[in-house]
Parts: sequence; structure tokens; C-alpha cells
Amino acid sequence: MESTQLFTLALGLQAPWSVADIRFEQEAGEIHFDVVCGEPRLPCPVCGRAAQPVHDRKERTWQHLHFFQYRAYLHAKVPRVACGACGKTSQVTVPWARPGSGFSLLFEALVVALARHLPVRQVGKLLGVNEARLWRPLKAIVDAAREQESFADASHIGVDEKHVGRLGFISVFHDAKDPRVLFTAEGRKAEVFERFEEDLKAHGGAAEHIEAISMDLSKTYQAGARKTFPQAQMCFDPFHLVKLGSAALEQVRRAEVRYEPDLKGLRWATLKRPEKWTFEQFQDMEWLRKSGLETARAWRLKERLRDIVRLARAEHPAEPLFKKWISWARRCRLGPFKKVAATFRDHLPGIVATFVLNRSNAAAESINAAIQVAVVRARGFRTLSHLQTIIYLIAGKLTHLPAHPYIRPVGTPG
Ligand SMILES: [Zn+2]
Repeated sequence: MESTQLFTLALGLQAPWSVADIRFEQEAGEIHFDVVCGEPRLPCPVCGRAAQPVHDRKERTWQHLHFFQYRAYLHAKVPRVACGACGKTSQVTVPWARPGSGFSLLFEALVVALARHLPVRQVGKLLGVNEARLWRPLKAIVDAAREQESFADASHIGVDEKHVGRLGFISVFHDAKDPRVLFTAEGRKAEVFERFEEDLKAHGGAAEHIEAISMDLSKTYQAGARKTFPQAQMCFDPFHLVKLGSAALEQVRRAEVRYEPDLKGLRWATLKRPEKWTFEQFQDMEWLRKSGLETARAWRLKERLRDIVRLARAEHPAEPLFKKWISWARRCRLGPFKKVAATFRDHLPGIVATFVLNRSNAAAESINAAIQVAVVRARGFRTLSHLQTIIYLIAGKLTHLPAHPYIRPVGTPG
């Protein structure tokens, strides 16, 4: 077999396309394939009429998967067909690339597969391509995959704000039953709910099907949810409840540190779970517990809150537990906790509903972890659209992405 034939097969080319020439550029570490289409007549790419004359040919180049250590490029003079039926002159689409792309489909599939696990900059380095050139195909493929996703089953959703460095805040909507990111929007104002609703509809979902929305206790989210999803039960993630307790504790400690310098090094020990204390932290906390300081009282309130969340998740009725905590916090003579108590009292139905509808926090936690990865990688992104592409890629559970070109699922031919 001639080497041109061999590479025609290796590249998966089919008639009328074949490899006519192969050029090694040893020093540059490159291999170039000249691909030709011998047919003088081809079907019209617009109307499909068979055997129309080729008008002219235009030279184009695509980067392809490496051959061993060699960067590989396909070159072809792509025919334009002058159609006698529809009267249009148009370029035929090549079977190995998306229209307009400078990469082969398999190369793009590799970019997508690698970008799920590596920063895009690193993917570019690995493949010998400037990062800037990878974003356009990446976004196009992720957007196309996302377009095919159905949100028709979404009934319990969660929304969370994320700070993403100099890009500011984004709002991330996820499906709480089938943990995946559904939608991301710039900002954290009430109107992000309207934008989500539009996107939900575009994916076969409906506002009326949304039964519950989990969120933090921010007023803008509550306003947005009430307006756009008036029938949905608002729920407040236990994670955010405990966070309010931790923030109140930190306020108390920081105020008291001025009179009690020994509290200075206690920040992490007070916030950490006791089972994770080091021996030194254990000793410090023994001292704190016996000290009678306000910080000790604040720590007990915060820990009790964690207990309550754990108990309520384990099917203890949440309402009496929270009512008892609220009444303790109101009488504790610690300003920040009185405030938390008032907030909880005002949101009690939503807090209680949280434990009835969704005892597990697993969805929110797994989404959070994935977003965190994307946000870390987003450092240095100049546009939000890059970050959104990465979030959908790693946390969108997209089922229509191209398969990894080197890994085939077990049992598939080829
Ligand atoms: Zn035509």
C-alpha cells in the first residue's frame, strides 16, 4: 500500500477525498497532508442537486490530531460549486471540520476532552496552539451541546451567587434533583430570574413546573423568585444558614479581641469543626470554653446551629429546633446573633420547607465544587463568556459533546 493510501485510511477520508501528498518538516516537528477532491462535478451544498460543475477551488488549512510527536495539518483546495439549479456558487463542506473552523473535528473533540480537566491555556500549550484560538471552537461546541439539552424535568432548582474576581458576580442556577448547572447570568440582581426563565423555556422547561427554589437569604433573589416563579416554594440552603452563624461569631470575636488579645489566634479553631481540631486548637478551645467570654457564647450558638441542621436533615422536625435556637439567640445579648435570630424568624417557613423538600445538600455541594474549579481557572479570563463556557463544560452534564478521539466507550466498534 502506498503511504498516501495508508494516510487516507488513517485520516478516515472517504471518496471523493484522498491524501495526494505527505510532507514531513522534521525541524518544525510538523507533518502536512495535501488532501484532494478529484471530482469535477459535485452535489450543490445549498439545494443538494447532484453533479454540478466545480467553479473554482480555495486553499485552506486545518490543524489535526498529532501524529506521534508531529503536529499535523491538512491542506485542501476546497471546491466551490456553481449550481445550475439554484443559481448559487457555494463552497462545499469538508467532512473533517465544522464550517469556518481551522481545526479538524477530531482535533476539536480532543480540545473539548482536555478542557474538561485542564485550563485552556495549558491545553493550548500541549497542542501547540495559541489559547486565544481555542476559545471560539470550544464555545461553539459547548453552546451547540447545550442547545440540545432538555430542562423539561426541572422542578426543584437552586440559585447561588459567585464572586469571580474582577469579572464581579455571577448567578448560577442548577437543577437540585439532577445536579447540573442549567444557567449562568452576569450579576446577582432580581432580573437574573427573568433571564433564567427565558432560557428554561428555550430548553423545554416551564416556570409553572418549578415547585421549589433553593437560595441564600438575599433580598434581591427573594424578590426575583417571587416575581418570576410565584408558585414556587422558596427554600434557604442550610449551608447559608450556618454561614450566617459563622459570620456572626466572627463579628463577636473580632470585637472582643480588642479586650482579650488571646482570642487573636482563635479564628480558625472557632470556625472549624471540632473533629478537625489539631491538638493545639483543642487546648485553645478548652481555654475558650471555660473563659466565660462572649466569643465562647457565640461559638456555642454557632455549633448548635450546625447540630440543628444535622438533626433536621435526619428527619427531626425542623420548626421546633429552629424556634428554640431563635429564642436562645434573641436572649444571648450578642448583637450579631440577635440579628441572625430576626432573619431566621422572618424566613422560618422557607427554612422549614428546605428540610421537607430537600434534606440532602449533595446537589448544591457538588455544583459548588465544580464552579469553584471553573472560577479558579477563570483567573485571567477577560470575558465572562469564557467562564460560562467552562462552567457549562464541567458542570452542565452535557450529553451531546463530541466523544474523546482517543477513548472509545467499551463495546463500540472501531
Ligand atoms: Zn443548488
